[in-house]
Amino acid sequence: MKFEDQRRSMVEDHIKRRGIETEKVLNAMLKVERHMFVPEDLRHLAYRDSPLSIGQGQTISQPYMVAIMVDLLQLNPQDKVLEIGTGSGYQTAILAELSQSVYTVERIEILARNAKEILEELDYNNIYFKIGDGTEGWEGGYPPCKEFDKIIVSAAAPDVPGSLLNQLADGGILVIPTGSRYFQDLIVVEKRKDKFITTNHGGCAFVPLIGKQGWDN
Ligand code: SAH
Repeated sequence: MKFEDQRRSMVEDHIKRRGIETEKVLNAMLKVERHMFVPEDLRHLAYRDSPLSIGQGQTISQPYMVAIMVDLLQLNPQDKVLEIGTGSGYQTAILAELSQSVYTVERIEILARNAKEILEELDYNNIYFKIGDGTEGWEGGYPPCKEFDKIIVSAAAPDVPGSLLNQLADGGILVIPTGSRYFQDLIVVEKRKDKFITTNHGGCAFVPLIGKQGWDN
């Protein structure tokens, strides 16, 4: 089957059928070519609903998980989005389709460089990259940005990092898996005035968020 057809089946069978209804999220998942973001020898598996190895002990997230998390962000075209854990850059592309700009942070340099290269090749010009500890948010990143409308963390944290809450705009939404090193709950934090409203969206399993306000190693 052609990649395009495989992608359509992925969206129908694993994303739409499992309850994601937001048209623009489905369209972005139909558009972004996941096979471009996985190592060549795994391309034939690119449209299965599973995480895949991208080297350095890291994984490209499961498509369904990307869809749920992005859906929970309730993105608007004018949103500035902070993404922690660029990884392959796949989710970065989905976010870039649905927002004004994406500020993405990755701690492993080679992954960040690969992701940047692919995203530039695909002509995205609304993505900014930072290599470093994303538990500190966009601190020290370029161009400077102090507040984000939406924040998405695609690695598992013991708790919600305070720096990220500080960089969330009023009315903003943060999505993050928190819990133990191996199993977590998908948490949504909404900031309303100076209140944080937290909801739990069920179990998940992510690679660890490693850094000052994450796991040690
Ligand atoms: N959304 C990505 C997920 C990659 S896995 C994708 O689908 O490809 C999570 C990524 O978070 C890994 O690449 C890992 O290196 C990165 N990561 C872990 N701790 C981090 C931190 N403190 N700051 C930035 N990135 C981090």
